[in-house]
This record gives sequence, C-alpha cells and structure tokens, in this order.
Amino acid sequence: MTVTAIVGANWGDEGKGKMTDVLAAEARYVVRYQGGSNAGHTIINPYGKFALHLLPSGVFYPGVCNVIGPGVALDMGQLLEERDALIGRGVPEPQLRVSDRAQVVLPYHLLFDRLEEERLGARSFGSTKSGIAPFYSDKYLKLGIQVADLYRTDRLQSRLEAALESKNTLLAHLYGQPPLDSDRLMPELTAQAERIKPYVCDTTELLQDALARGETILAEGQLGALRDPDHGIYPYSTSSSTLAGYAAVGAGLPPQSIRRIVAVTKAYSSCVGAGPFVTELAGAEAEELRRRGGDAGEYGVKTGRPRRVGWFDAVATRYGCMLQGATEVALTNLDVLGYLDEIPICTAYRLGEKTVSRFPVTAELDQAQPVLEHLPGWRTDIREARRFEDLPPAAQHYVLELERRIGVRIRWVSVGPDRQQLIER
Ligand code: GDP
Repeated sequence: MTVTAIVGANWGDEGKGKMTDVLAAEARYVVRYQGGSNAGHTIINPYGKFALHLLPSGVFYPGVCNVIGPGVALDMGQLLEERDALIGRGVPEPQLRVSDRAQVVLPYHLLFDRLEEERLGARSFGSTKSGIAPFYSDKYLKLGIQVADLYRTDRLQSRLEAALESKNTLLAHLYGQPPLDSDRLMPELTAQAERIKPYVCDTTELLQDALARGETILAEGQLGALRDPDHGIYPYSTSSSTLAGYAAVGAGLPPQSIRRIVAVTKAYSSCVGAGPFVTELAGAEAEELRRRGGDAGEYGVKTGRPRRVGWFDAVATRYGCMLQGATEVALTNLDVLGYLDEIPICTAYRLGEKTVSRFPVTAELDQAQPVLEHLPGWRTDIREARRFEDLPPAAQHYVLELERRIGVRIRWVSVGPDRQQLIER
C-alpha cells in the first residue's frame, strides 16, 4: 500500500479533520507531520463532538496507531491533556506514538508568542499564541530540544542554558520582562517527559517498517497550502510547510510513497487570522454565511474568533491544489450554501488593468479584486443526500463547475459535519 496525504487547499479549516476521521476507518496509521497544537480539527462521530489540536484524527479507531512525527511542534502538556479528555469522554485509550526526534514546545515559546503579538499590536499576524513561530525559529537556530534530550538531564540542562542566553537578552531589552532560569524549567519538563515516555519511539523506523509490510498510512496536514511559508501568503503564513510534499520530510517517509493526495476545500471560503483574502465578504452577507457555516457557525476551533468568510475562490483553490499535487479533492460544506438563490464564485482576479487567473505574490495580492460569476442556487436541504444523483441539478452543476475550474477531480462531496454525511463520486 501507499501513503495518502490529507491536506488543505486553502487557508486552513477546510474540513480535513472530518475527512481524516472518515478515511482513517481503513488506515493502520495516521501521522501528523508538521505544525503543532495551533490546529483545530473538528470531528463529529458516535462518541460526540471533538476539537483535536495536536492528536492525529485517527484516535477514535482502536485499530489505528496515531503518530506524532519528527516535524511536529510537540506541546507535551497539550498532548496529555487531549488524551485524558478523550478518555474522560468514553473514547477507548488511543494507540499513540511520539517521535524521539520531535522537538518540544517550551513554556518560553508560548511566552514569546504572546509578548511579540502584544508588541506588534495592530500589526500582529493573528497568531493562535501556541508558541509555533518561536518554536520553529529555535529549531532552525539550532536551539531546540528534541524529545530524546529530555531523558538526559545534563544535556537538557545545558541545551536550555544555551537557549536562555539569547532569550533573556530579548526579555530584558525588547520586552522589559524578568529573566528565565533553566533550573525552574527543569522539573515540569522532566515530569512531562516521564508521562509521555510510554509513547516515545523511533517513529521513522516504525512507519518505514509499516510501509514495507504494505500497511495503510494517512499523513494528516494542518492548515492549508496558502499558509505555506514558501508558496503561501507570506508573511501571513505559518512556520512549517503545509504541503503534502513535506509529509515525506516531517513524517520520515520516502517521497515516492505518497501516491494519493486528497486536497480538502470548502464550497465557500473561510480564513482565520490576518492576511489578504480576495473574496472576503463584509456586513450582513458575511454575517449570514458565518452563522450558517461549519457545524455551528464559522468560529475558530482553537481561538473562538469569528472566521472571515467569502465566496469560493477558484484562483486560490486551483493554486492550492497545484501546490499540494492533489490527485483528488474533497469538497466540504456544500449543504451550507442551500439558502442562496444564486451563488457567486471567483473565477479570476482583477489587478489594475489586467485580469489574471494565476495566484499573485503577496505584494500584488492586496490590490486584487475578485471577478465573480454567478451560479444558480438550489435552495434545498441536501444533508440527507448520499449519492451524487440525490443532489438537486443546480448543486450537481455547482460541484462540476468547481471541478472544471480547479482542474482536479472532486471525489467526495461533504453535505454535513457528521461522518455519514458524505457522497463519494
Ligand atoms: P480542519 O481544521 O480542516 O479539520 O477544519 P475545522 O474543523 O477547523 O473546520 C471545518 C468545520 O466545518 C468544522 O466545524 C466541521 O465540523 C465542519 N464541517 C466539515 N464538513 C462539513 C460539511 O460538509 N458541512 C457542514 N455544515 N459542516 C462541515
């Protein structure tokens, strides 16, 4: 068997959690390979409604092994809390493995994330304050702490001391804060390290062996293509690659093993955080779509912030699918649009005198205006549809038109947040 990556075609919150929960039924492994607890995957299944931040979305299947790969920002406290919360709500103890090469989010990453957003004020990037940017900065500055370091006290102490030299300078002179002391960080870190110890292993070997045995692996992406630091809307991007191509790196899998790439996109657009968003709606139109969207309105799972909403953006989604290398698309939230007489979609951008269909660089994007076309609405509740033919002709036409615009086959159409509310074409 090969590896399937489930990734976002847009700005995140496309419904990847639901699709991973569905596809995990046939998988043996689900692996997170980038990002950290800044994710917010909503899953609604027979156990109830859950918001997963760090745990892979395969945790509801006792037969699935859930892996935190080396590329993830591991917040140990968050991981343990999520696991305990799941068990507290009647979910059987999930199989969990944590890479000994993953690096850990430290209390000062959270502190610096908050201090920097406060310092930037109105210029802030809309961080979820989960410590992600300071974590990845430290990783590439070679100041990070790997899971394996946690079990070598001397090494941990000296790594922390080295990191704190520059942190304390910044705290004193940029933020006017008291210094940190490695001795005060050690007890909590070593206590958490003991608690995660049963899960720690060489997950790269684990997954490579699984692959050799022909077992099914799902790589679960976080956020979406447009948040990728290289190809997205930099600097309104996240700090690790959100692309399926990175799954090979962040999980430790051979690139050629990722044969199937499911890009998830909503039937309209939504976006949390700052940055250019060409099809964004304002006023009453936005309010209505926001109220009707998702499973309980479009509000961030991690932050509770109202999500910015807009019409489907074929320019951004075609680009997102191309970056992901999508082999198939899952279109979610189609049911949400059932209240409209006609539905605008963005087919191109106007940039000054020019009309473009390619996705521009950020420096041009803030001047882009959407070129909208209007498709007929269906004004029907489609949440009970289970076959494509069950959808009203206008809804079928909408899906086919989106498919034509993005140039990748739409294999799944999701018509509600529940596991069963799904059409496979
Ligand atoms: P993720 O981060 O990509 O997993 O996405 P989120 O969980 O942040 O956001 C997707 C939202 O849409 C959640 O509230 C889901 O419960 C909801 N959802 C997923 N698919 C559908 C669908 O087809 N219809 C509706 N109405 N809600 C959906």
